[in-house]
Amino acid sequence: MALVTTKKMFEKAFAGNYSIGAFNINNMEIVQAIVDACKKQNSAVILQVSKSAFNYMRPQYLKHLVDAAVEESGLDIALHLDHGADFEICKTCIEAGFTSVMFDGSHFDYEENVAKTKEIVDYAHARGVVVEAELGKLAGVEDEVKVAAEGATYTDPDQALDFVKRTGVDSLAIAIGTSHGAYKFKGEAKLDFDRLATITEKLEAAGFHNYPIVLHGASSVDQNAVATCNEFGGQIKGAKGIPVEMLRKASSMAVCKINMDTDIRLAMTAAVRKSLAEKPEAFDPRGYLGEARKDIEAMVEKKITDVLGSANSMND
Ligand SMILES: [Zn+2]
Repeated sequence: MALVTTKKMFEKAFAGNYSIGAFNINNMEIVQAIVDACKKQNSAVILQVSKSAFNYMRPQYLKHLVDAAVEESGLDIALHLDHGADFEICKTCIEAGFTSVMFDGSHFDYEENVAKTKEIVDYAHARGVVVEAELGKLAGVEDEVKVAAEGATYTDPDQALDFVKRTGVDSLAIAIGTSHGAYKFKGEAKLDFDRLATITEKLEAAGFHNYPIVLHGASSVDQNAVATCNEFGGQIKGAKGIPVEMLRKASSMAVCKINMDTDIRLAMTAAVRKSLAEKPEAFDPRGYLGEARKDIEAMVEKKITDVLGSANSMND
């Protein structure tokens, strides 16, 4: 049993009008919580790490934890690099056993993004690894990447087609109104579904059948988790996410991968704060981390049923 790429997952997800959850991992409890939830729902899953999480976990621990998850669960699991900034980190992750990498060249000018993405696609494909790239700019904060709302640009459909043609990239992250981090919007969230549909039509017409689209910055920012954090000493103000119905709609269209990181962070922090506050005499980490694991698992199960629609995707 081994890690798989996202290729088959996305083919099935597109055809079945659902998407696969891509959850960011940082430690053992988070990995177990996500995979246990997927096991209960019989769902394939993508475990992803940013460069900073890769350094935090350290490659060997990360790889063995994820291998353990594959071995214990028997599920289709892909290991993906989230927001690779350059060729080097993509190469490092491919060597470390990742089955999928993202190269995010969205901050470069278009031609440079094409050239750099193509270089990574060629390298990865020669090693059986798939690549995700990004076109357009999302607002928000992710690791070291910060984009102000006015600096955000939606993905141009014609450019998306040209980009896929010229790079051979396996999936494309687009900007249609989602945003990174917990502070997504001042006003109401709005996703540009027409733009998503146009991108798919253009790709389809050019022979890219059922081409998988990726949504970043797609946490719902559960208001109960925010309230729990704040009730027990937190100071998370004005956090807001993407409504579940909008994400569900995107999943039923060409979106085959939905990234969720903030929601895991919030669930974990809420559980730890609550547990420590309610049991001030306790100091066994298994207590509060166990609570966190339980809550993350429940949250991920809800994502599978309410947002992704990927339950029983292992049977497809
Ligand atoms: Zn992202």
